[in-house]
Amino acid sequence: MQISTELSTSLVDDARLAEILANPGFGVHFTDHMLTAEWTPDAGWHDARITPYGPLTLDPATAVLHYAQETFEGMKAYRHADGSIWSFRPEANAARMVRSSHRLALPVLDTDDFVQAVHTLVEVDRRWVPDNTGEGEKSLYIRPFMFASEAFLGVRPAQHVTFMVICSPAGAYFKGGVKPVTLWLTEEYTRAARGGMGAAKTGGNYASSLVAQQEAMAEGCDQVVFLDAQEGRYVEELGGMNMYFVFDDGSIVTPETGTILEGITRSSIIELAGKMGHQVTERKFGIDEWRDGVTSGRITEIFACGTAAVVTPVGSLKWQGGEVPAPASTELTTKIRQALVDVQFGRAEDTFGWMRRIC
Ligand SMILES: *Cc1c(COP(=O)(O)O)cnc(C)c1O
Repeated sequence: MQISTELSTSLVDDARLAEILANPGFGVHFTDHMLTAEWTPDAGWHDARITPYGPLTLDPATAVLHYAQETFEGMKAYRHADGSIWSFRPEANAARMVRSSHRLALPVLDTDDFVQAVHTLVEVDRRWVPDNTGEGEKSLYIRPFMFASEAFLGVRPAQHVTFMVICSPAGAYFKGGVKPVTLWLTEEYTRAARGGMGAAKTGGNYASSLVAQQEAMAEGCDQVVFLDAQEGRYVEELGGMNMYFVFDDGSIVTPETGTILEGITRSSIIELAGKMGHQVTERKFGIDEWRDGVTSGRITEIFACGTAAVVTPVGSLKWQGGEVPAPASTELTTKIRQALVDVQFGRAEDTFGWMRRIC
């Protein structure tokens, strides 16, 4: 893919950048540049360009605003101790965006073009990738996304699609130590049905999860957990994280794919835990099994995972009229989390070949 570059003439100055990177938060500050490419049926992908970061001008009839035809990705760039910058399994994000695009009737962006777009933008904005001294876990969060940019109110796949990449520095997710998240079990709302778009990374799934998340917070919980839409019995995932259950014999269960989002952190942990000697099974996991397992002590740990938080221990689970306490331990959760971030930040050998050098 041919990418042109127009550099910003009003870069964020060094002093301000240092201030932002000292305390980046999440998703509030954006880098100096962005990448945009256009697609039409005749020309395919074209006009890929890096330009100064700034607002878009959209016709009010732009299709995505009405029918939510869009997909997105979430990934990070990590600065290692020697100053080099790396991405983690970017081809997996590219492949998932292809699958999401198929589901949303959007055009396919090839893996090579996706990775090139992401890496080129990160290289241009490399001064925005935070340093990590000691156990630091700051990174540059990368958000590629694709949307129906045709101005047309008819309902059909858009004939003009825009792909963009923006980046935002991200701080350590847990300040002052990893703390278990408390969960609310929603019995009213589901996130995905058979044949729906639960496996696609698309805004609509998030839009439909917000009211359940609101309910969770009103109940004093951090996050919501969804059950399957058909029987209301099997654990699917949180609003944006996949789940794992650790048993007292060291075996691990994670809900099978189909209606859940296939997390790249999820699949990495399946490999990592396997290599650590744990038997990992992907299967349906009933909510009864959660309740009974924690009560009897057979389930010793529960954790959730995703790019933003990496791995988060799960604490208590509440629902209308009931509660199960937090599992007894967070030992393996902490160990898996550490093993994964050590690979990402170059503090452990990348035995799986997951890391890609950007610059
Ligand atoms: C992105 C996402 C995840 C986590 O996927 P990762 O690739 O591990 O970041 C889990 N669930 C949902 C609904 C998501 O959108």
